[in-house]
Amino acid sequence: MTSTAVRTPVSTPSHDIKTPGAQMAAFETFVRHAPFAAALVDNAFRLTAASPDWISHGLSPDLEIGDDFRRALFSPEDVDSLERCVAFGEPFSRYRAISLPGQDGTLAEPRIWRTEFAATLTETGRTLAVIITARDVSGYAETALKAERDQQRLKMALELDDLMVREYDLRTGEIYCSGTSPELEKWCLFKDDPLEIVHPDDREKMAELVRNRKDGEAQVFEFRLNRPDGVETWVRSVGKKFLGADGQPERLVNLFKDITDRRRQTEAVENLAFKDSLTGLPNRAYFNRKFQEAVDASEIKGELFGLIMIDVDHFKDINDTLGHDAGDALLKRLAEMLHAAFRSGDTVARLGGDEFAVILRGLHSEADMMRPVNALQDLLRRPIEHGGRSFSVSASIGAALHGDLDADPSHMIKNADIALYRAKDEGRNRSVVFTPSMRSSLEQRIELLRDVRAAITAREFVLYYQPVVDIASHSVAGFEALMRWDHPEQGILTPDRFMAAFEDQDLSLKLGDLAFDAALAQMREWLDQGVEFGRVAVNISAAQFRSGRLAEEIQDRLGRWNVPCDRLTIEVTENVYMGWGAEMVSDTVHQLHKAGVMIALDDFGTGYASLANLRQFPIDRLKIDKSFVQNAEDAAIVKAVITLGGSMGMKVVAEGVEDQEQLDALADYGCDQIQGYHFSRPMPAGMVAEYLAGFGK
Ligand code: C2E
Ligand code: CA
Ligand code: CA
Repeated sequence: MTSTAVRTPVSTPSHDIKTPGAQMAAFETFVRHAPFAAALVDNAFRLTAASPDWISHGLSPDLEIGDDFRRALFSPEDVDSLERCVAFGEPFSRYRAISLPGQDGTLAEPRIWRTEFAATLTETGRTLAVIITARDVSGYAETALKAERDQQRLKMALELDDLMVREYDLRTGEIYCSGTSPELEKWCLFKDDPLEIVHPDDREKMAELVRNRKDGEAQVFEFRLNRPDGVETWVRSVGKKFLGADGQPERLVNLFKDITDRRRQTEAVENLAFKDSLTGLPNRAYFNRKFQEAVDASEIKGELFGLIMIDVDHFKDINDTLGHDAGDALLKRLAEMLHAAFRSGDTVARLGGDEFAVILRGLHSEADMMRPVNALQDLLRRPIEHGGRSFSVSASIGAALHGDLDADPSHMIKNADIALYRAKDEGRNRSVVFTPSMRSSLEQRIELLRDVRAAITAREFVLYYQPVVDIASHSVAGFEALMRWDHPEQGILTPDRFMAAFEDQDLSLKLGDLAFDAALAQMREWLDQGVEFGRVAVNISAAQFRSGRLAEEIQDRLGRWNVPCDRLTIEVTENVYMGWGAEMVSDTVHQLHKAGVMIALDDFGTGYASLANLRQFPIDRLKIDKSFVQNAEDAAIVKAVITLGGSMGMKVVAEGVEDQEQLDALADYGCDQIQGYHFSRPMPAGMVAEYLAGFGK
């Protein structure tokens, strides 16, 4: 019996039906009243009954099952199936598009019908008749068709894109897989998330992902496959757990894509971003990454590694004198030398400018590290040819070895830098390996800067004043203001104890401000007291010029303290004139000079500048460095400088005059002014009035 028959509204229960005749009659009654398309065909293929629905479509109960009926409702396969249904009681069903004739006899638009054939059997198991029901399922069929098309499209997409879908039924444990990827198909052999096929390095992350999986939330993960052949295969996966109608997890769907190509492309792009275009060497970004890898390896495996910093000596001069072309050629040539000197596994990088670095991993000793360094120094001895000229270069090299496993390997960069600094300090063109004692001198410096900072806040810095005496008139022309640190424990400290502070960008600015304020406040006081001090000279460090606003700042301050410009001298060393930002220095001193501030060239003779170089600057005073004054062998130089200065309209001041003999000689050469212990050591401001009063008495 078919289910349709069981659910019939016919009141006669099936067990009451005894005879085939009575059975047939009951079925005929059922079919005639069925509220849907139904027909009854007996085992001789006669149509014995049809439902009103079907009759309305022109199917007559009197109709013999003949050609018309077949043609209208059935395909040859249907007839075949009907025959099998009669002969063996096999039910069947079929979807068919049928155009039924309407009331007026014309054929309507084809509709999708689902036709079901169910045999009704006698008690002896013979087929009595076949009940045919038909339902217009056009609506469902479209959905089904659409689903089938979606399926086809998905399948094509999977094929096109090396995608694979794995659906795991969490209730039945069944796995469905589709897609093409020989490597990924393995995934379908496993039930739960198969960590076995994930690369060992990616397993932990994968396991974590599985642990944290939330129902209904998509997870995306990229990992490598575990391949015995070692070929790196990258897979991107999106996974999601779907809930069933009951709200319980039902299916786990994973979509996998082979992204090995994309990964390689990304790597290629990264390589581009990690390369220095001039030399083709890895750049600083790459170096940082490799350095971190070396640090990790040394922390995990205790691996010994070395770091080398290389700086071309006087590269700026080469660039300035031979041109940028020559500079570029040199850098390229150096890159080649580095390649030749170091092992292929070492990371040779250009950090910028003329700065190079090398990371050496898997070392056994310091000798391992120094071998290539020495080879490089040998290569550097050969002259470089460029544009038909040949020139020689040298480099300073700092090396550090991470041997002390308890030490923080990230200090390595600092250590190598300290060693490099030492190599330069010792005269360049050499290699220095870092030792902890080097760091301590740096640490002392850091400590000093910290103390100076605190001392500034504590107002421990004061100015001492040293007189400058005019030889011809034998009178005090002025004073040089010199910084002292009135240290609470160590007493009065001279600048040689805190020189590093004048070289520190930030602190030299603070000390400079402080010196100006103190000097101007003092001058104001002396002016008010009627102390005839002449001029006060204030020393200016290079950093103070950097803002570009120094002239305005000085003039503002003079205005604020109401001190006339012609009471002030500024002392600038030739290194400041010749160094970085010479243009800005020039503008500043011109502006001040115009305002009436006197400009003194300090420490003349210790730098590399000649007076011709300094012509562009307005210089009123030339201060000959004390090293010349105190060295009798330099008398000729001192004489020449005095003559030259005079001819250029500058007054010449000799520093460091300690005795009468020196004073006499200088007077003889025509020197204008004298500064030195012979007259007085630098003194506290409070002693100046008394000194002036007693001068010459
Ligand atoms: P400087 O500008 O060349 O100052 C002259 C130095 O020579 C002073 O050293 C002074 O005490 C010393 N001196 C003077 N006469 C004699 C002498 O007869 N014999 C000897 N042996 N030395 C003499 P000081 O005060 O220790 O200052 C050292 C350096 O510190 C100065 O050299 C200057 O470069 C720097 N400095 C001092 N105060 C300041 C400041 O306020 N700002 C800046 N930027 N630098 C300053
Ligand atoms: Ca000075
Ligand atoms: Ca000086």
